[in-house]
Amino acid sequence: MSKVMHAIVIPEVGKAEVREYPMPACDPDKLLIKNEYCALCTYEQRVFNGVHHDPLPIIGGHEVSGTIVEVGEELKGKGWEPGQKVVYGVTHPCGVCYHCRNGNAQACVNFTNRKILPGQSIIGSGGLAEYAMGTPHSVFKYYDVSAEEASLIEPVSCVVHSVESVNPQLGDYVVIIGAGIMGLLHTELCVHKGACVIVVDMNTERLEHAKKIGAKHVIDPSHENTKEKILEYTRSLGADAVFDTTPIASVAEECVDYLGQMGKLMIYSGIYPDHPISVSPHKIHKKAISIMGSANSNEHDFITASKLVSEGIIDVKQFISGIYEAKDCQKAFEEAPGKFRNIIHLNFED
Ligand SMILES: [Zn+2]
Ligand SMILES: [Zn+2]
Repeated sequence: MSKVMHAIVIPEVGKAEVREYPMPACDPDKLLIKNEYCALCTYEQRVFNGVHHDPLPIIGGHEVSGTIVEVGEELKGKGWEPGQKVVYGVTHPCGVCYHCRNGNAQACVNFTNRKILPGQSIIGSGGLAEYAMGTPHSVFKYYDVSAEEASLIEPVSCVVHSVESVNPQLGDYVVIIGAGIMGLLHTELCVHKGACVIVVDMNTERLEHAKKIGAKHVIDPSHENTKEKILEYTRSLGADAVFDTTPIASVAEECVDYLGQMGKLMIYSGIYPDHPISVSPHKIHKKAISIMGSANSNEHDFITASKLVSEGIIDVKQFISGIYEAKDCQKAFEEAPGKFRNIIHLNFED
């Protein structure tokens, strides 16, 4: 009889529970990983809350850290050992499409959360299972930080992709809309890039947080005119770059107005509901503006994110809102909205 493992699944909207599945046996070309901590991202929350309709039951969790417990036969002697602390990701790209093979797995045309990953019994990214399997191209070592912190390497990798796509230059005026975890990670990275960062949010506490991690200016649209303030802070130039980390379509529309000549707008967040926006094509032409998007991350982004966190260049501890035991998964999901990150400790022994 095969051994059993546990997994936190969403069997129906509004419900999370621990279920038992067959334990994966390690494939010869893979690494078997015991998952340790998994953060609940907006995606998992949207599935839980019924905003995003993936088929259920599903094993969510893609912001996850773990330890290698078994090295596949073909990988022995190739730098992988049981006991190594790792994070993994990029498991959803197909690996065979044009973009995957061209080094852009984040843009895979067959990317899906709806497949059953090797070793799992049901669909989903598998980070909330007790064990998972990964091929070396999707497994990344980390060092010198706790496993809780390491679970946040994945969101850092997505922000690395976004920031490197825009590539702000020293001294650039960068506006970041939203001071949730994604806005603040953008703030940290853009400050490191030597940009003059301006953060916009209506939450005073989060604006204070943005200042603490290096934002030069903050704007609260509940009592300030965002466009006027941006012009003031950018010495009438307008922004070189705007990162919109909010899910609101009308905000993306307003962001175009914050850009200066040759400014770049990055639409980082998924937009719910996805209302079309109105943008002047003439203005895009005349000001030589770029409007771009970013989603997911690739191997390079993961390696960079792992170094940023392992070497203490980026502090992710500040984004851990709460740590929950696996048996309290329902509570962890219910209490996740509005927090930076609720993290589940994947310990299934009682
Ligand atoms: Zn995520
Ligand atoms: Zn692909």
